Amino acid sequence: MSSVKISWGESIHGKPIHVRDAANGLACNVICMECRGALIANQGDIKDWYFSHYPGSTCSGESIIHVLTKYFLRTEARPFFLPTLAISASQEDMAGHIHERVVELYGKALILENIELEVPAAIDLRPDCRTQIQETGEVLWIEVFYANRKNEGDIQKIRRHDITCIELDVSSLTLTSSHEEFITAIFGTAKRHWLHHSNISGVQERLRQDLEPQVALVNQRYISELDAHREYLSAVSDSVANFLEWPSLSAGSGANQIIKVPRLKSISVEWTQLINYWKTDGFTLEKGIECDVLLGIAKGKVGRPPSLNLYKPTLLIEVLQPHALEDSSGYVLSWHNIDHWKQALNGRIQQQLAYKIRDEVAWRRRFSALNALEQQAAALQLANLGDVPEMRVGAFSKGWNCYEVTWKCLILYHHMIMESYPAHLHVSALASDPLLQRVLRLSNATEASRAREIELYLWLKRLYEDGLLIDQGRQRFTLARPPQDRARFVRQ
Ligand SMILES: [Zn+2]
Repeated sequence: MSSVKISWGESIHGKPIHVRDAANGLACNVICMECRGALIANQGDIKDWYFSHYPGSTCSGESIIHVLTKYFLRTEARPFFLPTLAISASQEDMAGHIHERVVELYGKALILENIELEVPAAIDLRPDCRTQIQETGEVLWIEVFYANRKNEGDIQKIRRHDITCIELDVSSLTLTSSHEEFITAIFGTAKRHWLHHSNISGVQERLRQDLEPQVALVNQRYISELDAHREYLSAVSDSVANFLEWPSLSAGSGANQIIKVPRLKSISVEWTQLINYWKTDGFTLEKGIECDVLLGIAKGKVGRPPSLNLYKPTLLIEVLQPHALEDSSGYVLSWHNIDHWKQALNGRIQQQLAYKIRDEVAWRRRFSALNALEQQAAALQLANLGDVPEMRVGAFSKGWNCYEVTWKCLILYHHMIMESYPAHLHVSALASDPLLQRVLRLSNATEASRAREIELYLWLKRLYEDGLLIDQGRQRFTLARPPQDRARFVRQ
């Protein structure tokens, strides 16, 4: 048995009737708006008055609020609150700044007239209510939302058919809401929002037109500023390389890095105007390769290439706004369409590495073929110490009386084995280096290492005093002069 209490039924005249306006009990002659079954008016002295179904009914009365809302929309001539519709339009100026204009429409109660219910708007599209706004004559559709929100497909359809439509959400009402509650909610307080408005693009177009003079004025200022920079660059066209801050290209990393800074030798003073940019020809310092030069306003996002088809390497010079002509930091430079330059650089790195490996193999082969004295001579030569008399193979330093030749060989051999420059000659690490112990057949006993450490330190200190080493502190020394390129030794 349905125990739903309802305040509203349908009279024999086919109109909604409130339980207060009906006769009591079975004699009310009222039916349910949903299931069309007879209702009983319960008008007791203590409890609130309500209609109920006959025993055995399973009706939930779910659609009654929907039906009543449409009914009151049609029958009550009251101003209907239309929610605010904000429409905005924007335009970008040459510097990439966005200029925006917003207009807010409605946001007030307006008279609706010529209200019709359930009129087909298109095949498979039948919004709840069609009406006309008296003040503007605009046709407005209203979708009443109670139990089921309009699905996304219907909303798409409304937009596609360009129907001005709002959704009215009456889910705050109940089956026992009073007439006053219905009217207050429907015409004023119930939530509502615009599903679509057919005039949005028209209003946006009007707003854009409003913005145009403002953006044009800003652009005009940029254009005259660009003109000044263009004339300045033309005036220094033969020495552009000297005052601009050039971006660099690099390949590889660490010791195997090549950095290239492509610069222009000069630019042509003949400029062509493109949208947002001036264009001219440039000639690079290296091989005089021709490229395009573009001059434009920095658009915040520095280095953004212009929307052009680039056929040649292109230098983009962007002017930061605003800045003085001679101030080189105000120009932001970036290269575009230079993949082949980068590839060439990568190719050079690959080639360099290949040469290095080849030289290394050759060097090791040649070095190992030498006798001990020759190895020392070669090592000294490579360390760029070959012309220092007291470092010569077999020479004794001023009153110095240790196993000098061994030490010289040890240090320099180590230097070459370690390959890295500047290599630190770290006293304690050298004195106990297992590789050196093996190469020079030294004792690996702790006391022997300790003795070597003292000897080594005193000797390095002496070389430092003679200006051959640099003292890096904490028993570390580096060569005062960079070592020779090993490739030269190979080719000798
Ligand atoms: Zn019913």
